[in-house]
Amino acid sequence: MTDELDELTRQIGGGAPYDVLRFALERFGDGLRIACSLGVEDMVVIHEAARAGKDLGVKPRVFLLDTGRLHQESYDLADRVRSRYDVVFEMYAPDTAQVEELVRTKGWNSFYESVDARKECCDIRKVQPLRRALSGASAWATGMRREQSVTRSNLGVVERDTTHDASGAPRPLWKLNPLASWTERQTWAFVEEHGVPTHALHRAGFPSIGCAPCTRAVAPGEDVRAGRWWWEDPSNKECGLHPRRSA
Ligand code: SF4
Repeated sequence: MTDELDELTRQIGGGAPYDVLRFALERFGDGLRIACSLGVEDMVVIHEAARAGKDLGVKPRVFLLDTGRLHQESYDLADRVRSRYDVVFEMYAPDTAQVEELVRTKGWNSFYESVDARKECCDIRKVQPLRRALSGASAWATGMRREQSVTRSNLGVVERDTTHDASGAPRPLWKLNPLASWTERQTWAFVEEHGVPTHALHRAGFPSIGCAPCTRAVAPGEDVRAGRWWWEDPSNKECGLHPRRSA
């Protein structure tokens, strides 16, 4: 498996996002899934995947995890993505019975009470729907960047995803982070140059987009993910979608 990881890294590790995504579409076809959090980085990935898909004559598969707690601005942008890009845009929702049980036993805002309670909500509303989104996938692509937080500082362009590997899957699940080495400035320069649609809340001081009750604006100079679960220790701020060993 390490050999395969080395080989993939050699083939696409230093490539531009377009090249990484084009390679992935050719290599994995329908087995490639593109995560869409609606943050600016994911918008760049979708833009480049759509461009590569057009060049190859295929429709990339993009998915959104609708936790039920997103901002209205997120749904507005999701509709713009659907109408602008020639992609298959899929939405995954949490299991209704699990959400009903969570709210019945712990209320609507249990995530503020402890890290465990927050992770329980993320597990129901994000992690389990992600597993369904990745069912049958060979690879998925994200807009994660090393610079975003201490939990992402050792991010590779190509990684093996052992967390979301479907049980009994005949193939490994690869995780591609085509923007891993990009800076925030580079990301926004790309958006400006190519007219990529972006989330309205970025202009209101939200560098990272998540669920409405768990995301807030940050002060200039603060870590870009400081507004996510701002009441928690920064070294532990992932939701289970992107768990990492410490850097
Ligand atoms: S970010 Fe907050 S509301 Fe969204 S799933 Fe996690 S704990 Fe729940």
